[in-house]
Amino acid sequence: MGAQQIGSESRPLRVAVIGSGPSAFYATEALFKAECRVRVDMFDRLPTPYGLVRGGVAPDHQKIKTVTKLYAKIAANPGFRFFGNVKLGRDVQADDLAALYDHVIYAVGNESDRKMGIPGEDLEGVHSATAFVGWYNGHPDFCDSSFDLENATSVAVVGNGNVAIDVARVLIRDPDELADTDIADYALAALRKSKVREVTLLGRRGPAQAAFSPKEIQELGDLSGVDVVVAREDGELDALSATWLEAAAPKAAHRNMRYLAEQSQGGEGSAPKKMRCRFLVSPVEVLGEGGRVRALRLQHNELQADDRGTPRPRAIDRYEEIEAQAVFAAIGYRGVKIEGVPFDDGWGVIPNVEGRVLSERDGAVVEGQYVVGWAKRGPTGLIGTNSPDSKSTVAAMLEDIAGVTAPALAADEAAGIERLLDERGVSYVTYEDWQRLDQYEVERGQEKGKVRDKLSSIEEMLEVVQKLRS
Ligand code: NAP
Repeated sequence: MGAQQIGSESRPLRVAVIGSGPSAFYATEALFKAECRVRVDMFDRLPTPYGLVRGGVAPDHQKIKTVTKLYAKIAANPGFRFFGNVKLGRDVQADDLAALYDHVIYAVGNESDRKMGIPGEDLEGVHSATAFVGWYNGHPDFCDSSFDLENATSVAVVGNGNVAIDVARVLIRDPDELADTDIADYALAALRKSKVREVTLLGRRGPAQAAFSPKEIQELGDLSGVDVVVAREDGELDALSATWLEAAAPKAAHRNMRYLAEQSQGGEGSAPKKMRCRFLVSPVEVLGEGGRVRALRLQHNELQADDRGTPRPRAIDRYEEIEAQAVFAAIGYRGVKIEGVPFDDGWGVIPNVEGRVLSERDGAVVEGQYVVGWAKRGPTGLIGTNSPDSKSTVAAMLEDIAGVTAPALAADEAAGIERLLDERGVSYVTYEDWQRLDQYEVERGQEKGKVRDKLSSIEEMLEVVQKLRS
């Protein structure tokens, strides 16, 4: 048989998706909905799918996690296969994928974080939010981390985004309220022993520029036994922020400001635990004693409009120290370079134009390679933001195959990847394996009165997968 149109009944479009978080599933969904025949093989370096929905979303936000029901429906398409425990750059190389697939979609997210870049950052007790979030969620990369909360009463969380809020909430919330969630058992045990009574959230800009969502900050205020404390002066809108709110700010900023202004009227409150929201301060040094953090030195900022009128922080000559026996930096994520895949080190993303991968920033388009999600646009947006984002990349993919033909595929072509993984001794996890593991975790959870009891070691996951197969 001669050349056939790629994406036709007789010559499906073969796509490898690297990563299995929301952006990966939304891209897969868009491909299956397209008027073209597609086969999707999705790879994850972990044995389990769902990326940040499993390893990032906080355990007390179970409702958000129900989005996996949609992903399971997408995975039920006969053209879908999952290869868990397969890492690009270790088990398979970019060249292998180029030989086996027409297109590769990188949905690899942002697996590292931004550093504060200040003296003392390496002291014991200074942590990244990434590590803490991964730890309480039982992520294999972080399940062996430890956080000394038994010797901490005051904690600082740097950053004003939703990750900062998640970290702050898990630190201050009554652990009993987490007991029936899918939080890792070791994390719940550590939180039960925690002495943390005061969490200070540090924003480098003003309350009107906070990056968190209104719902998230209000949830802190609804926690039992916790007062959200905002200084009176932070409840008053400055002239620059007022102009910006009027002209350019998102609705969320208005709602945040209203809520924080209300809170600023409440003073210290009478609850035993305090969540202090501080604004216009930047940590400039972590101060230690005996190798451990004891305080943060803060420099005050004022707001100054940039050339677009957006208020930005400018340091002023005023300093203070706040007590903290633990510090968590939640100032944003960044991508990690994968061998053989272009990477923009400055922006921490895979360089691209509308989802088409470029050899470098402003470089040439790399044929057959695409990117979605945080690896494409940086660490912004909620889970749902990834749906239109992935759809736009898929639209580019479909445009690129219009009128493109290829020779017919060999009858056993689809088994090529399995043969390659078998030859290399890679124990990959299929979607069926995952479904059994999923049920296993849920049943283990039920015995303990939790929604799920996660396995957090890859070794144990693979052992259980083997056992459940037989
Ligand atoms: P983010 O929303 O971008 O917030 C990062 C915060 O860090 C900002 O307040 C930023 O301040 C601050 N920051 C950056 N560099 C700093 C520095 N050097 N010193 C002090 N502060 C600094 O990022 P994120 O919180 O990591 O969240 C990532 C994405 O996931 C967001 O879109 C978020 O909404 C989403 N998410 C959602 C949920 C949820 O819906 N429940 C939960 C978690 C995450 P500036 O604004 O001044 O830059």
